[in-house]
Amino acid sequence: MDFAEVLTRIKEASPKHRLDIGDPDLPPPPELLEALRKEEDFRYGPAEGLLEFREAVASAFGVEPGEVVAVAGGRHGLAALMWVFRGRRLLTPMPYYPGYFDIAGVFELGLGLVETDGGWMPKFAERGVYVVNYPNNPTGVVLPREKVRELVDVAEFVISDEIYRDIVFDGFTSPMELSSSVAVVYSFSKVFSVPGLRIGAVIAPRDVAREVAKFNRATVNVPPTPTQRAVASVVDILPRRRAEVSEAYRRRAELAAGWLKLEFVRPGGAFYVFPRVADDVSCFETALAAGVSLLPGSLYGDPRHVRLALVEDEERLKEAFTAVNAACGGPR
Ligand code: PMP
Repeated sequence: MDFAEVLTRIKEASPKHRLDIGDPDLPPPPELLEALRKEEDFRYGPAEGLLEFREAVASAFGVEPGEVVAVAGGRHGLAALMWVFRGRRLLTPMPYYPGYFDIAGVFELGLGLVETDGGWMPKFAERGVYVVNYPNNPTGVVLPREKVRELVDVAEFVISDEIYRDIVFDGFTSPMELSSSVAVVYSFSKVFSVPGLRIGAVIAPRDVAREVAKFNRATVNVPPTPTQRAVASVVDILPRRRAEVSEAYRRRAELAAGWLKLEFVRPGGAFYVFPRVADDVSCFETALAAGVSLLPGSLYGDPRHVRLALVEDEERLKEAFTAVNAACGGPR
C-alpha cells in the first residue's frame, strides 16, 4: 500500500482517532497569529529571504545572516540541498522519512540506505553525503553525542534535517556543533504548529547557502514575504515555546510507554512512537476498523513496525492506545 492509498483508506473510514500524519494539535502561539493578522507586506522579497528573517534565525542559531536562507518549509529546504549535492553519494539511515525518496525520485537521484541496530542507532562507515533526521521521524530517537561524532568523522557532508530540534526530552547534539561541513534544515511547522504556513530555513556554509538561494529562485522564487516578517517578529518566543511543546509531547511519549502493550524504543524527542508489530498492514487495517488511524511502517521502509503520531490530548490518547492494544497487540 502506498501513501496515497493509505490516506484514501483513512479518509473513507473517518476514524475517531487520527494518529497518522504528523499534524501537530497544540494551538499555534497567539503572538504569531497576532503578527500574521497585522501583516500587510505582500511584495516580492529577495530569493535568499528577507534580511530581518535571516537575522532573526541567525541569532537563534548563533550564526551569521549570510549562512541563513529562507525556504518554503523544511521539505523545500531538503529538496534544495539534495539538489545541491546531486552529484554525490547520498545516504540515509533506516527507517527513513519517505519525503527523501519523493525528492530523490523527481531529481532521479540514488539514495543509499544505512542499517541501524535494535535501538535505531546507525552504523556510519561509508563515505558520502548523509541525510539524517534527529530527533527522528518515525522512531523519535536522538543520537548520543558520540554517534554524532562518528557521523561527522565519516561524512563528506551532512544534511541535517532538524525539523524536530525544538521537541527534545533529554538533550540533542546537532552535527553543526561538531563540524562545519553541515547544512541544517529547520522549519517552524512543528514547533509553532503551523505546517500550512510553509516557512523554514537552511543554515549552511555560505557557498552552500548561495546554491540554496539559487534553488529558491528557480522554484518558489521568493519565500512568502508576510510569513517571514511575522515569524521574524516572534523568534524571541522560541525558547519558551520549545520548553512548552517539549513538555507536552514528553508526557504523551511517557503515556504511550505506560499504556501501549507493544514494544518500542523510548523516544528522545519529536512526537512519534514506532512500535513493533507482527505485520504492519494488518495492524493498520484492524486499528482502523477499531477507530484509530496509524501508519504502516513499510512507508518508512520497515514492515515490522507501525508509526503513531501523538497528536491528541492525553485522555484521547489513552482511549486510542487501548484500541490499538486490542487491534495489534500480543503479550509484551
Ligand atoms: N522532515 C521530516 C522528518 C518531517 O517529518 C517533515 C514533516 N512531516 C518534514 C521534513 C517537512 O516539514 P515541513 O516541510 O512542513 O517543514
